[in-house]
Amino acid sequence: MLLSEGSISKKRLKIEINGIVQGVGFRPFVYKLALKYSLCGYILNAGKGVEIEIEGDEVQVDKFLTSISSNPPPLARIDTIHTTKIPIKGSKEFSIIQSLHTELKTMVSPDISMCPDCKKEMNDPSNRRYKYPFINCTNCGPRYTIIDSLPYDRKNTSMRKFKMCEKCKAEYEDPTNRRYHAQPISCYECGPKLEFISLIDSSYAKESEAIDRICDYIKAGKIVAVKGLGGFHIVCDATNEKSIEILRKKKHRPTKPLAVMFSDIAEIKKMCIINEKEESLIVSKERPIVLVTKKEDSKIAKNVAPNIDKIGVFLPYTPLHELILEKVNAPIVATSANISNQPIIRDKDELFQKLSLVIDAVLSNDREIINACDDSVVMSVEDRAVTLRCSRGYAPKSFFVSKKASKKVLAVGANQKSTITLAFENNLILSPHIGDLNSIDAFEYFIRTLDTFKRFYNFEPDIIVCDKHPGYETTKWAKAYVQQNRDIELIEVQHHYAHALSCMAEYNLDGEALAFCFDGTGYGDDGTIWGGEVLFVTPKSYKRVYHLKEFPLIGGEKAVKEPRRVALSLLFEYFSKDEISNMDNALINSFSKKEFDNFYLMYKKGINSPKCSSMGRLFDGVYALCGYLNPLGYEGESGLILETIAQKYHTSQSYSFVIDNNKIDIKEMLIEILKEKDKNIIASKFINTVAKIVVDISKKYPKLPVILSGGVFQNKVLLQKVIQDFKKSNIKYYLSTKIPVNDGGISLGQAYYALYRH
Ligand code: ZN
Ligand code: ZN
Ligand code: FE
Repeated sequence: MLLSEGSISKKRLKIEINGIVQGVGFRPFVYKLALKYSLCGYILNAGKGVEIEIEGDEVQVDKFLTSISSNPPPLARIDTIHTTKIPIKGSKEFSIIQSLHTELKTMVSPDISMCPDCKKEMNDPSNRRYKYPFINCTNCGPRYTIIDSLPYDRKNTSMRKFKMCEKCKAEYEDPTNRRYHAQPISCYECGPKLEFISLIDSSYAKESEAIDRICDYIKAGKIVAVKGLGGFHIVCDATNEKSIEILRKKKHRPTKPLAVMFSDIAEIKKMCIINEKEESLIVSKERPIVLVTKKEDSKIAKNVAPNIDKIGVFLPYTPLHELILEKVNAPIVATSANISNQPIIRDKDELFQKLSLVIDAVLSNDREIINACDDSVVMSVEDRAVTLRCSRGYAPKSFFVSKKASKKVLAVGANQKSTITLAFENNLILSPHIGDLNSIDAFEYFIRTLDTFKRFYNFEPDIIVCDKHPGYETTKWAKAYVQQNRDIELIEVQHHYAHALSCMAEYNLDGEALAFCFDGTGYGDDGTIWGGEVLFVTPKSYKRVYHLKEFPLIGGEKAVKEPRRVALSLLFEYFSKDEISNMDNALINSFSKKEFDNFYLMYKKGINSPKCSSMGRLFDGVYALCGYLNPLGYEGESGLILETIAQKYHTSQSYSFVIDNNKIDIKEMLIEILKEKDKNIIASKFINTVAKIVVDISKKYPKLPVILSGGVFQNKVLLQKVIQDFKKSNIKYYLSTKIPVNDGGISLGQAYYALYRH
């Protein structure tokens, strides 16, 4: 044999991997693979990812390469793998080389729920971390919420104040250990400590006793606060109607649904009806709140989610939650600790300052939450996940886009459900949910998030993108910022176009599409309020092809909270004053003669009655026509209740409508609704009508794929109907899965536009 034993069958590759590959256990993973295939070389964190040189048997090297891409660590996201064949160097071992500098451009990973390995250890009495509330490893635990700056090293996290004990240090330094370089590693000896403080009698307890005390309080019907990953939760027994009533009163939150945490999936199944997809979302490592249908006879108190058949459920995602649920032995309400619609509270002093009148006790700890992060919310529709809030577990969310950014882009989103997005190179990075920017605290949170992301990515924008709405806090901020930094370019993107773009960004679409952008409010190009828009879109431009025929909103903002005003506005628009006066229905009768005349005058003269084409408001109007005349308790309540009635009183019928001169005219529908003897049937027929509008228009453009975006498409019944009809008619469509269809996706769409403009 002339073949010498090495050189011919051996090769050496240089492999560069980009994506989320730092701080997610990638190096030990590769190290173990190299040992498995008896290969030599090294790995190091470099620039935007990791750099590997691997040498050995040709076949084994190929297997090694396949294993990397087919089965990476759970928290990793590989965007690109670049390999080059290089000369053999004759290495004798594989090593992890500590890198001195990284270019800081690696992605920040989101926080991930406790992994099965850690759970097993936590429940093992012989393990040194038995029942340890902060157990974690390379595959699980806090990330975004404890990171101050990059690179992701313990010294740059809020774990820096806890000095590793010898045992933890040994695990941390051992490449074969599953805690190798797990930055938040700790144990009873060296980690954060729990504390319990009663606001009733000032009693105090530490560590495991603190858990016992808080659980006693919950079981006794008290309302408590618990410090979790991204902030405090307000917690109480979810089967105790009285506690929830008190919580609602104290928080001034009359009807908005509260999320419930269960000990395990079996408990959820006892009280809710869930399908396979919902189950997979509930148990996923991201552990979001999942909207499911509750059973009629469930033990969950009715006032957890009044008047609707849905409930948001989730499983414990930290060891601490796990320990609490085990002890309380009943599902608990776990809702973000905040003052109505303000950011989640992450700091104990702030909690006492703002919520001391609401809570009876607190379970806190001394690990600082650097970046607040709310729980994520998802639902399943026709077997696909639909994200309603993209936050803990998912965000920061990075998207790889084929269009490379020639400049650094910062998009600041909308005013409600605000998020920001950074774009650089082939990345779009979406921040966690910030929230509604209607308070000083919320705006500060927005600024803090901006600073955090700028720090993470060493980022100064060349371009800032904002909404066209001059009144949005984000728009005002963007304009002021550009004023002071003259070399930064400002781009304004129309709100509904940004909705469509957000979906295009998620799917990396660059062609033409027909976009249905249905939401509550957005600033239109003509200065009116848009919201029932059908747009012709590409990543570079758009054209408004159809829209809901405009109607006024009597009282402007007031109408948004009071659906009966919207209903009256609709009637004024489509009927004469006499016709309306002669109508005998609960809606008309709910207005005094004076009110009626006054509103009519406002309508006629256009006083504080802005025109809108909003589909969200049409839902409100129809809700009032169904006989619901009280002001809304929370945004989206009308849609959720219509959804509930539509499921209970289901029909396949719909109402008439006319598409005339690019306007969707709903006069016929209103006439038919007013004639309806059985009011319960209105919801289903109305939702079918909206679906029919979407499908009918889509059929006019058989060559164009359809995009569904905007908050209205959070309506599960509507979405189901549209998707089913699309499938029947073979219509290709796109619907965001990973980012919210609501305003939470706007910043992503704005950033996507900037990539294509340059
Ligand atoms: Zn783990
Ligand atoms: Zn330790
Ligand atoms: Fe919107």
